Amino acid sequence: MGKQVKAMDTSVHLAPGSNAYEACLSGLVNGTAAAQMPRQIRQPRSTKEIQTAIHDAAALNLKISVRGGSHSAHCASNNSLMLDLAASYKEITISGDRVRIQAGANMGAVVQALSPYGRTIPVGTHTTPGFGLLLMGGIGHLSRILGLTIDAIEELHGFRSNGEPFKLTATTGEHEDWKLMRGAAIFLGVVTEATLRTFPRYDLRVCRELFTLDQLSDEIANAENFPASAACSMILGFPQDHPHAMGLIYAVAETNRQESMIALDRLKAPWQAIVAGQEQLPPFEMPQLDGRVESILQASVHRMRRTRTWVYSISLPNGLAEKLGPILKQSINSAPNRDCRIDLQHVGGLVNTIPEESSAYLGRSAEWSIVITGVWPGTDGIMAKRVREWADTLFKKLIPLAIHYYIVQRHPGEWSYPTETRLAYGPIWEQLTRRKAAWDSLELLPALI
Ligand SMILES: Cc1cc2nc3c(=O)[nH]c(=O)nc-3n(C[C@H](O)[C@H](O)[C@H](O)COP(=O)(O)OP(=O)(O)OC[C@H]3O[C@@H](n4cnc5c(N)ncnc54)[C@H](O)[C@@H]3O)c2cc1C
Repeated sequence: MGKQVKAMDTSVHLAPGSNAYEACLSGLVNGTAAAQMPRQIRQPRSTKEIQTAIHDAAALNLKISVRGGSHSAHCASNNSLMLDLAASYKEITISGDRVRIQAGANMGAVVQALSPYGRTIPVGTHTTPGFGLLLMGGIGHLSRILGLTIDAIEELHGFRSNGEPFKLTATTGEHEDWKLMRGAAIFLGVVTEATLRTFPRYDLRVCRELFTLDQLSDEIANAENFPASAACSMILGFPQDHPHAMGLIYAVAETNRQESMIALDRLKAPWQAIVAGQEQLPPFEMPQLDGRVESILQASVHRMRRTRTWVYSISLPNGLAEKLGPILKQSINSAPNRDCRIDLQHVGGLVNTIPEESSAYLGRSAEWSIVITGVWPGTDGIMAKRVREWADTLFKKLIPLAIHYYIVQRHPGEWSYPTETRLAYGPIWEQLTRRKAAWDSLELLPALI
């Protein structure tokens, strides 16, 4: 039996076999990550301890896997040194219209902390992801009005993989680093802290409605006519109490914008609410036919047997409704099980107006971020194969229509990875790989190739 060891640097070290090691991995959101066996886990409480852990990884020649919100498959990996920032490095400090966030905090905690101050930041459709979202994009219901989460970043601190510290701001003159770290940070360094500017918090109106998939092309075209101050995302999936796949419209706008209220009125959606902020929105999930979203209580499952997912997120421009509708309808109708889903996250709006060269997120001209989510029980190898084939098939059909790949979902070592990285970073590939060679010369961070 391994044991929990405290080393000189006082950060918590968890060794394989210890209860704390098992508890840490069992607590990860992503089932694939939960099933990994890192060589050791560090739970640092200070930047010094993070730096020491990075030095130790280099000395031991171990890859570093950083755990932020743990929503990806990559926050833990076999034989790595896992830096669990979420354990004890998640302070949120608000000062005027700025918020300083330690890298273990998740976006929901930030939104909650800001709410008494009447401020907010744009986060994802689920508020639970962490710095993996904040550093790479951050697409959510308010993106069209406030921009992506990365667009709110004002300052970043962290370490290169050789342990050298960095501090970057929009005005420090290192324009290339500043640009690349917002949209490609996870390949270049370990970020310890970010400062974001915040926005006034307004009431949000949300309208939801189920529709049959024959209407899909029309619904996509309607959404594309929304004013920039409202978002009309969708989910294609299976209502819990209905045998067939359907679509869900999920439209959101701040109540202080008249043109967006008019757009939402036109929907005549049966389920509507006005809520005080993003964290109070109804779950972005397929509801029952009466609009309720029932949470299904999961029996606690051993970390090696948890539900797994295979996810692609691909960015498409507007004007494709006629083509896209039949492709997506056919795909969800042929899903291998009822947990699979396809989300159409409505981007565009303000995101379109921010210059592409300002960051490494190159999907600015997209109207949609299409998220294909294949799901299977961790123990079912046959279903795993069917699900992956299903997701791969749809991904391949969308590639010719795509203008960008949102690389928070990535599949290193798989056939799709060169396509994912080319679509994500094609125009800045040379710049990015040059910078990676300099910043991650020891190749301890996630690979780009
Ligand atoms: C249920 C669900 C809903 C989602 N909804 C949205 C959404 O609405 N909008 C959206 O944009 N995305 C969404 N995502 C995708 C999400 O943004 C990615 O999965 C993202 O990688 C999650 O970040 P994390 O910090 O939670 O995950 P983690 O798995 O902890 O981290 C993700 C990656 O970032 C690296 N990383 C984390 N922190 C740091 C750091 N401080 N320094 C360097 N590298 C770091 C990790 O090593 C890992 O490779 C969703 C995912 C899930 C599972």
